Amino acid sequence: MNIIEIDKQYIAGTYARFPLQLVEGKGSMVQDADGKEYIDLGTGIAVNGFGIGDDEWKQAVIAQLNKIQHTSNLYYSEPCALLAKELCLRTGMKKVFFSNSGAEANECAIKAARHYGQTKKGADCYTIITLKQSFHGRTITTLSATGQDVFHEYFTPMTEGFVYAEPNDLNSVKELIKVHKCCAVMIELVQGEGGVVALDPGYVTALAELVKEEDMLLVVDEVQTGNGRTGSLYAYMDYGITPDVVTTAKGLGGGLPIGATMLGERVENLFTAGMNGSTFGGNPVACAGALSILQRIDERLLQEVKQKSAYIFNTLQGAKGVKSVSGKGLMIGIECEKDAGEVIEQCRQRGVLVIKAKHKVRLLPALNIPMEQLEKAINILKEVIEK
Ligand SMILES: *Cc1c(COP(=O)(O)O)cnc(C)c1O
Repeated sequence: MNIIEIDKQYIAGTYARFPLQLVEGKGSMVQDADGKEYIDLGTGIAVNGFGIGDDEWKQAVIAQLNKIQHTSNLYYSEPCALLAKELCLRTGMKKVFFSNSGAEANECAIKAARHYGQTKKGADCYTIITLKQSFHGRTITTLSATGQDVFHEYFTPMTEGFVYAEPNDLNSVKELIKVHKCCAVMIELVQGEGGVVALDPGYVTALAELVKEEDMLLVVDEVQTGNGRTGSLYAYMDYGITPDVVTTAKGLGGGLPIGATMLGERVENLFTAGMNGSTFGGNPVACAGALSILQRIDERLLQEVKQKSAYIFNTLQGAKGVKSVSGKGLMIGIECEKDAGEVIEQCRQRGVLVIKAKHKVRLLPALNIPMEQLEKAINILKEVIEK
């Protein structure tokens, strides 16, 4: 049996995979099992922020691997302490809880919000407002937080305590606050899985003010938008707001699993010993790699992200067959006249890997993709969309 057959026989049927087995690569170039080369504009869903096999990241990971691969949270460990320090110094947040995925990072944020509501306003103050079209993860509770019915249908009952507001509509949030005792609002600044849609800056500032007036927490899910993806270190920085909780994952680890929940001033001492935990959370190898990634997301790189973003927007906006281009930085959604699945398949045949978000073609290239490779890939994409 070949790998595809073995996979189909033994892997749980939750994934509709492309008929493609990726085996190795370097930077933004990746090869399949037949040796065919592709320019990768998907980065394993915004994970390989510096592309494949980045040398500095590999060195940091291997150096740590040669020391100790895991210690548990029973003991102190340098990489996790240094990564937490770097995250706090770069964001102004005060404390970090480490886990292994975006969903877990959000679970911790939800725990923080509930505990905040409980201690400030009583045990019945636990409702969290999220937005329609949001995506917050695959655990039962983060699915419940996800404001899309399609994600709820198979696994009822969902965790209670989530209500959904219309994006970019402050009144929708106000109405919910009137009816429910709410402890927090949780948002993605650019809704990724929901179709790569950035929230309006005016709405976000007004929402942040409202949440503060109501003594609720503002939780920003930066699992996908974080770590340079949208052209700032974290997307909230560009919106001029100070969230109480920021979660991140995907791009932080450079390819290894990690989740981080950053706690701001109002909640920095919310958690005490025993209130949360994780066996693998803060794994030294993942943290050593993440620290090397974070240290390289500097102003120069972020400028590069913005320039490449502008190049993609300028090339595709108004191009033949393109209905709209949305998103921010190198997190871009393209609505085409053609079916997105067809565009993705034809790009794949021509050596370019792109992915999907709802009915759109989604681009999540490496932050450091060489301009020449980006241009080549975007030209192919443009031709495919045109025809
Ligand atoms: C991917 C994603 C998640 C879930 O992350 P996992 O690592 O798959 O658990 C949560 N929130 C957002 C915004 C995401 O894009």
